[in-house]
Amino acid sequence: MTMEKKIVVLASRNKGKVAELQRLLTAALGDVIELKSLDDVGITEEIEENGTTFEENAFIKAKVAAGSGYPGLADDSGLVVPALNMEPGVYSARYAGNHDDKANNALLLKKLEGVSNRAAAFICSLVMVFPDGSAPIRAVGAVEGEILLHERGKGGFGYDPLFWYDPAGKTLAEMEADEKNAISHRGNAVRVFARKYAKRMGLIEDDD
Ligand code: IMP
Repeated sequence: MTMEKKIVVLASRNKGKVAELQRLLTAALGDVIELKSLDDVGITEEIEENGTTFEENAFIKAKVAAGSGYPGLADDSGLVVPALNMEPGVYSARYAGNHDDKANNALLLKKLEGVSNRAAAFICSLVMVFPDGSAPIRAVGAVEGEILLHERGKGGFGYDPLFWYDPAGKTLAEMEADEKNAISHRGNAVRVFARKYAKRMGLIEDDD
């Protein structure tokens, strides 16, 4: 089935993030969504991410993007560590106080000193809000791993050098971008979202 490309506004000003999500969405759905940034549609307000869950934050951001009159899409993600009571969670970007990956990783290692359960997961929540008030589309993706004692690898960002992914025998920072996307929380959330979006738009049959 062919369909006119739909404009969707991603709640981000980061061109790299827009391009990356556009690539993932096109891979999962075909050429059906054209992503715009907040700047592209003239939304300049600062968004306060004061939710207590990834989904709440994604919803807050998607709602602002939907103020454009187009469907608004937002993602929010982070690391959760069960032995640390699910920290750093929604504070992942600013765990050590500022948006500094090195300091965040150092703090995580310090908090895990002497802790034997080093299980962790990255979680990504994606939410699409529609300007006509129809039900939002929500999708969650996760990847499970373990926090190493030392950083390994130079790729990726954030906690990637500490996140050991056992099925591949390497950290996320030792993976190529496509390899990470194939198993990552963000890649998984996009694939779940794509399926729900395709059903909503009548691109595939609803077999639930
Ligand atoms: P965001 O919501 O995607 O901006 O992610 C918030 C924070 O979670 C980032 O600043 C990182 O600290 C952490 N994070 C999210 N996704 C990843 C990832 O794929 N690798 C490493 N860290 C991540």
